[in-house]
Amino acid sequence: MKVDVEKCIGCGFCVRDCPLEAVRLVKKKAVIRDHCTQCGACLKVCEHGALSRDSVPAPGAVTCDACPIFCQVKEGDMGACHRFENKAGKLVRMTPLRSFRDVAETVGEDPSPAISKPLITAIGSGTTYPDCKPAPAIVGGRQQDVDVVTVVTEAPLSYSSILVKIDTDVQVGEEGADVLSGKRKVGMVTTEQYGSKMLSLGGVNLLTGKTGFAAARIITDLANGKEVRLKVKDGSKLILQVGQPPIINGDTPLSMRVGCGSATLGLFAPLLKAAADEVIILDSHITSLMSEHAAGRFVGARPSGLILRFPMSTPGRYFGDHGKGWGGTSIEEPLNVIEGIDEDRFRPGLRVLITETTGRNGKLFELNENGDFREIPLTEACKEALSAISSSCESSRVSAVYMGGAGGSARAGVTRYPIKLTRAVHEAKASLTVGGAPVYVLPGGGINFMVDVERVKQGSFYWTPTPATICPIEYTMTCADYGEMGGHVEAMKPFKTGDFSRPLPD
Ligand code: SF4
Ligand code: SF4
Repeated sequence: MKVDVEKCIGCGFCVRDCPLEAVRLVKKKAVIRDHCTQCGACLKVCEHGALSRDSVPAPGAVTCDACPIFCQVKEGDMGACHRFENKAGKLVRMTPLRSFRDVAETVGEDPSPAISKPLITAIGSGTTYPDCKPAPAIVGGRQQDVDVVTVVTEAPLSYSSILVKIDTDVQVGEEGADVLSGKRKVGMVTTEQYGSKMLSLGGVNLLTGKTGFAAARIITDLANGKEVRLKVKDGSKLILQVGQPPIINGDTPLSMRVGCGSATLGLFAPLLKAAADEVIILDSHITSLMSEHAAGRFVGARPSGLILRFPMSTPGRYFGDHGKGWGGTSIEEPLNVIEGIDEDRFRPGLRVLITETTGRNGKLFELNENGDFREIPLTEACKEALSAISSSCESSRVSAVYMGGAGGSARAGVTRYPIKLTRAVHEAKASLTVGGAPVYVLPGGGINFMVDVERVKQGSFYWTPTPATICPIEYTMTCADYGEMGGHVEAMKPFKTGDFSRPLPD
């Protein structure tokens, strides 16, 4: 990395963001130290063009090809991610490969099979109120030759929400935008996940606000597999039903993307190389350019000199934008992604295939002597590549995770010592299920859990105007542990039906 001291104004961003602290400021000017790996992190934050990449690798440096950064690691140094070290001219992983035994203690125990499933579910159990009464059903029985107890209740949870996953690259709205039911706010657009848009609906602050009833109804309807109609502020109209494809502004996207633009190139590089001289895969996350991309170079693609209008992440990988165009970008006319052509690499007759990460749209263009592109019919090789992408995509669908906090007064219906129940859940001594479905309990304090609503029998969620949503929850543990935590053993009834060999002894 080189510094142009005339241009460097000593803003210090490069120092702050260098993962190896290989930049420092001397008299307010950036100085590159010996440990620079050419990772380029400083280039991304330096706004003044004061830094530029060395064209020739440093003597003795080894190029790491484990990721698109391609660090140049000098002897005794490590790469930007702090994983690989150059030891005597060889790159070695600094942490040895770990076996499961090495990490078992950190991973911790799962609940034993005897308590991982409840004897009965809480579906249809009702609720006792006030909570200091014993829970509606406390039953004992035997599972796997162990005496166990299941305590159930349909718990009203004011700390509850639903995280909705919409598998599509179609834009639904800005991250953080309000999600409305009619005119009432019921949630917001939250961080995208790989290939999916996400909505966070409900939550305690909305439930207790003016639009709480609407939020409670939406959570319950979605959790019960019913269709709901929502609108993202300044965004799309949505019709959502868990297990079904989404309808976005009246259209049904048929598939989710196969990966980001870079992943698509990595997956199908040989087919894409056979399809055209150059390939651009439009994607709102990473748009890729085959001839610059590591996968394209690996399969022998020649540089085309195309310059894309998006900012570069690493060679062949460009940060996209969001919009109503191809691949969820703003590019509605595919050629608009090309900003120019490097004159030194200008090649009349160059064929460029532009597509997106679902293979839904694809156009082939040919470059003429004047530097203009004209669209030509897709060749068989292009069709084969597009079909390989589209047939590898999963169907677009809606799924949802219900989130609830059960660490409050409902614990009193289970035990006289609520903290002991909380600890038992975290120590895998008490297994929490929702309608019999396994949950993920969030780490730290309290009993905050997540459950895939498609694993809970439809129609098991309700809402009440406190407002709160009502969720069927079960705690299953050994009888010995239940007694030790101050459980309501006096209210325990034997479990008489089912697969269990014998009811609990009196
Ligand atoms: S290229 Fe990477 S290692 Fe080198 S100075 Fe910039 S940020 Fe630091
Ligand atoms: S894997 Fe790490 S060391 Fe290798 S190129 Fe990427 S950031 Fe650098």
